[in-house]
Amino acid sequence: MMQRLSLLAVTLLAAGPALADVNVYSHRQPELIQPLADAFTAETGIAVNIAFVEKGMVERLVAEGARSPADLVLTVDIARLIQLDDADVIQPVDSGVLTANIPEQYRDPDNRWFGLTTRARIVYASNDRIKDGEVTTYEDLADPKWKGRICTRSGLNDYNLALLGAVISHHGEADAKAWAQGLKANLARKPSGGDRDQVKAIAAGECDIAIGNTYYIGQMLADPEQRPAAEVVHIVYPTFTDGGTHMNISGMAMTKSAPNRAEALKFMEFLAGDTAQRIYAETNNEFPVKPGVPVSALVASWGSFTPDPLPLSEIAAQRPAALKLMEEINFDG
Ligand code: FE
Repeated sequence: MMQRLSLLAVTLLAAGPALADVNVYSHRQPELIQPLADAFTAETGIAVNIAFVEKGMVERLVAEGARSPADLVLTVDIARLIQLDDADVIQPVDSGVLTANIPEQYRDPDNRWFGLTTRARIVYASNDRIKDGEVTTYEDLADPKWKGRICTRSGLNDYNLALLGAVISHHGEADAKAWAQGLKANLARKPSGGDRDQVKAIAAGECDIAIGNTYYIGQMLADPEQRPAAEVVHIVYPTFTDGGTHMNISGMAMTKSAPNRAEALKFMEFLAGDTAQRIYAETNNEFPVKPGVPVSALVASWGSFTPDPLPLSEIAAQRPAALKLMEEINFDG
């Protein structure tokens, strides 16, 4: 009996301390996050429990407070990361791996949130009706030559507010207002639907160009029902006259109450590493945030471009002004 017990003790000691799980609240879809979690568990033996939270992420974390089981939040758009920070439910993370792998413009200067992928907000253009070189800058989208030819989703949508925030950063509020008014005057129809609906509107002949995020074209090409619409448009990367192409991020943050900080930090560093960055690139056709990790073959086929150098924290700082401006001009009306 004694012998058995000591054998058990030796076995337990050899296994080391038990590893806690990492608990993730994800705003991102299961098809994308599960393969990342599986790869992490295979490498480290640390299990990842994912709760997919479609709505009310901030409210849930606030309500759960210090008792929240969540260690880590995964979400899209700089606005949502900032909302988490404003609600005081995330904490700074000190990691040489994260600061080495993630370019400065795509993470919080105070290390409270980190970008994991980038996406460009670009122009979808009709293959038939738009010639090479016709789409140039974001500023040009307000030129009357586009009257009745542009489609976009709501001006109050996070993606469009970030784009307008970038316009404000580049040109100031007065010029940004004139730009947004010019863009509104060029719309073929009132803003409605999501980015994919704008691709469908081009295919249906309602407009010639539209504003949208890059990866939706990849999602549409992979869907037999949406593929025909995606096949008659192509991606053009506009630039700011004094900059590059507008970028946004998907990202992560450690919760303030994280019960399993060490394991959560390991997962964060894994997500910013080569294996995970490749999975992001291949699964959702986003741009890996880590320099040197290749984009997918589809993304490569869209050609190269120069990302705008504006820090995401600066774009986020312009969000209240962007929202006010969109409401003032009744962009969606
Ligand atoms: Fe999206």
